[in-house]
Amino acid sequence: MNLPEERKNDMAISENARAVLEKRYLIRDEKGEPTETVEELFHRVANAIAAADASFDPKADVAATARCFYDMMTGLDFLPNSPTLMNAGRPLGQLSACFVLPVGDSMEEIFDAIKNAALIHKSGGGTGFSFSRLRPRGSTVNSTGGVASGPISFMKVFNAATEAVKQGGTRRGANMGILRVDHPDILDFITCKNDTKEITNFNISVGITEKFMQAVENGGSYELVDPASHKVTGTLSAREVFDKIVSSAWQTGEPGIIFLDRLNRDNPCPQQGEIESTNPCGEQPLLPYEACNLGSINLVTHLKEEDGRWVLDKDKLTTTIRNAVHFLDNVIEVNKYPLPEIDAMTRSTRKIGLGVMGFADMLLYMGIPYNSDQGVAMAREVMELVNTIGHEESQALAQVRGAFPLFSESTYRNGKPLRNATVTTIAPTGTLSIIAGVSSGVEPVFAYAYIRNVMDNTHLIETNQILKNVLVSRGLYSDALMRQIVEQGSLAHVDGIPEDIKRVFVCAHDVSPIWHVKMQAAFQAYTDNAVSKTVNFPNSATKEEVAEVYTLAYKLGCKGTTIYRDGSRDEQVLNIGKVN
Ligand code: UDP
Repeated sequence: MNLPEERKNDMAISENARAVLEKRYLIRDEKGEPTETVEELFHRVANAIAAADASFDPKADVAATARCFYDMMTGLDFLPNSPTLMNAGRPLGQLSACFVLPVGDSMEEIFDAIKNAALIHKSGGGTGFSFSRLRPRGSTVNSTGGVASGPISFMKVFNAATEAVKQGGTRRGANMGILRVDHPDILDFITCKNDTKEITNFNISVGITEKFMQAVENGGSYELVDPASHKVTGTLSAREVFDKIVSSAWQTGEPGIIFLDRLNRDNPCPQQGEIESTNPCGEQPLLPYEACNLGSINLVTHLKEEDGRWVLDKDKLTTTIRNAVHFLDNVIEVNKYPLPEIDAMTRSTRKIGLGVMGFADMLLYMGIPYNSDQGVAMAREVMELVNTIGHEESQALAQVRGAFPLFSESTYRNGKPLRNATVTTIAPTGTLSIIAGVSSGVEPVFAYAYIRNVMDNTHLIETNQILKNVLVSRGLYSDALMRQIVEQGSLAHVDGIPEDIKRVFVCAHDVSPIWHVKMQAAFQAYTDNAVSKTVNFPNSATKEEVAEVYTLAYKLGCKGTTIYRDGSRDEQVLNIGKVN
């Protein structure tokens, strides 16, 4: 069915954003034709999420809340994670992006986890697993007298299942695989993605302990422990293992590292067990069977002009934060969870993850370089506000709706009741930032100009709009100049661009790895969960530089880190374009 003209509306989103929404998010009929418009999608989501208000107050003005949510989304002030946009108000009704599933050391438990992951992937969610409880390769299997194949061989089975489900789902199934640094199979794990293409649907991270980091610093060794027998199976030099992690990450971008003891230091409900894993992109630590829904505020629409300069509109931001927390808490209420265990766990902690996107674009408008103390100070200011107001709103909701059920056993129990065990998370916003037309998450702008292939082999130069406006206003804009920016991948060495513009319009590769980490740490300081961030390195970077970043991430209080050295993987998603 083709939609009649009058139902195609005029929301202020780019052609590109509309194309993404139309391709992946709109409801379709059996023939694959969309049966809703983009505007109808946002009405569907707003109505479904607002409806939760009625379960707390039969007299609630649900229509007014729906209007508020609709305006917040279509104004591109806030967007919930993709599964909410895809599935709210529809029979599937699975609205969360992040899940963690336990993997126990038995055939039943391993294959239960695979089945459960398949159900989650089908609904657009991503799954994280720790494989640390599996007995090491070569140990005995009691029932058969055979030999265990170990965590890595089972990861390949998880990977194959993901690959198969991918064909039918709405979005690529994504997994996080974690192994503790003291698991006897750790050395195989560190290089497991280098030697095989059988684990491509996983991001992998080594679960690092404080003990291990101290041993790295002191040049000491540490013990490997068999998780099944609890016996020490050997010792390794911490420095050698650290160097192997660094070397593999330098080569392929993986493994990342996560600091397990930090995740557990901030575990609000330790009586429920240990946090062993995060979601696929690392920003959301969760207990086994816990899910979390994320949402991101677009900072660009929270700027106002004052005396000819762009400044943060804190009043508007405060309003959006409050409405966004209300929205995300409602999501938990109307969410249809894929398993009863997930339903029970998620409703008992009620974690939400509110974050930001368009941070780098905001700095461009303000004339602040990303790689500067002022840029880092801005990160702290913005995120402190999101975190403080976010918690205030969660407390306000608790007064009306009650605290999260595990509040009285949580680490918050001596303070004011909270509706949500966590409130803030910085997501990558891979799709959301395209819909909003802004820089993703808290990453710097990747490239200011690139080549887009359109049909019949013509190439178009796409230019960052903020840069274009500045160049046009100063009479500097020309096709030839943009071509140079495309060719060089950065403004830094392009003749004819004034220094003041070069200083502000820095791209990911102009930002030294140290500044990437400082920025991540600034956001982490005001985030309950974690921060999605990739530290970019040029192809020429050395292993020592990678080691320095891993160490700095530890020292500055990050919960983990992921690096990427340009050109180190065959299929690089974003390429700095060259004009043919
Ligand atoms: N995610 C996933 N598959 C994907 C992209 C994302 O499962 O192809 C999950 C994953 O848990 C990730 C989270 O969604 O960490 C948030 O990713 P992002 O912010 O990029 O999602 P968006 O809402 O922008 O689509």
